[in-house]
Amino acid sequence: MQLLQDIAPKTDWFGRRKADERPYLIAGPCSAETPDQLRATINGLVPAKPNAIRAGIWKPRTRPNTFEGVGPEGLIWLKEAVEHTGIPVMIEVASAKHVELALAAGIDMVWIGARTTVNPFMVQEIADALKGSDIPVLVKNPVNPDLDLWIGALERMHKVGIRKLAAIHRGFSGYEKTIYRNQPNWELPIELRRQAPDLMMICDPSHISGNALLVADTAQIALDLDFDGLMIETHIHPAQAWSDAAQQITPEQLIRLMEKLVHSRELTEDPVFNTQLEQLRKQIDQIDRNLLELLSQRMEVIRDIGEVKHNNDITILQPARWAQIMETRLAEADSRELEPGFVRRMLQLMHQESINAQVKVFREQRDRQPRKRS
Ligand code: PEP
Ligand code: MN
Repeated sequence: MQLLQDIAPKTDWFGRRKADERPYLIAGPCSAETPDQLRATINGLVPAKPNAIRAGIWKPRTRPNTFEGVGPEGLIWLKEAVEHTGIPVMIEVASAKHVELALAAGIDMVWIGARTTVNPFMVQEIADALKGSDIPVLVKNPVNPDLDLWIGALERMHKVGIRKLAAIHRGFSGYEKTIYRNQPNWELPIELRRQAPDLMMICDPSHISGNALLVADTAQIALDLDFDGLMIETHIHPAQAWSDAAQQITPEQLIRLMEKLVHSRELTEDPVFNTQLEQLRKQIDQIDRNLLELLSQRMEVIRDIGEVKHNNDITILQPARWAQIMETRLAEADSRELEPGFVRRMLQLMHQESINAQVKVFREQRDRQPRKRS
């Protein structure tokens, strides 16, 4: 991942927050609808001091015959509505044509939507169209939880010379219905941060939540996970919004939300806290060593089980035993107040790994002593 390391901006184009500084804030409606709606929303947002204003001009919609954005005339409304504020404005681009029109209209920044990031052809087309401009480009995660696609889109932008880059985490589509519209799968942005520690990371709690009531809580989680900024959909009359009505909040609600958010910081020099943390981390280090030792012992027994099954022509998968393991462990986890979803996922991982190990044992044994067909 040589390129990804380079993506980390050498210059702080966004003025990344230092300890205690407020997060970088992008606010504005899901879609530009009318000149009045834009003006009223943006004027309402000014006291929140956003670093950038957002509005969708072309809306990627799952079904046709719904509102798909106002198109190019919205570019003029948007520029006019922000003019007296001096705040940079950003839109979503999904094709070379969008880029061309955005640049010609003097749009200050662009973002690439989740439905575009999934498609390397489209991402490349947009990158080629952006070549030579030095506006910031923010790349949303793809709809599916595929970190490589997300990184690939950032790399394509970087390859054409774009240096003002950031990633936007907006959650991932899932089959299961949960409280979220798009599952946060925080482990993906966390892994992106591990691979590109200096890349600016913005969270979009509006599209993760899908519901105005969840936005504040999701935004706070993002700050506690050390995100650099937030993109929050804001509408002067959320209930009447032409797109994403359920998740938008009013400018007043955004101002209150920003006041309430706690800006955690990554590091401190407070010796009392640091000593306390260090001691607790030593305990975790020891527990992890014990867990790994136990896992290694477990795998040894698994390989013995594989051999015994092989020698007796017994299938690797034993559905009744697997059901019993799941049931008993989940009951035990419950009595220890462990989160059942976590324990289920951990058991599934261990079970898959033990199946893999037994498949390997079977293969080795069969290679060693091929059976004669009777
Ligand atoms: C949006 O920002 O309004 C949008 C369409 O987002 P996403 O690409 O995250 O679905
Ligand atoms: Mn939206």
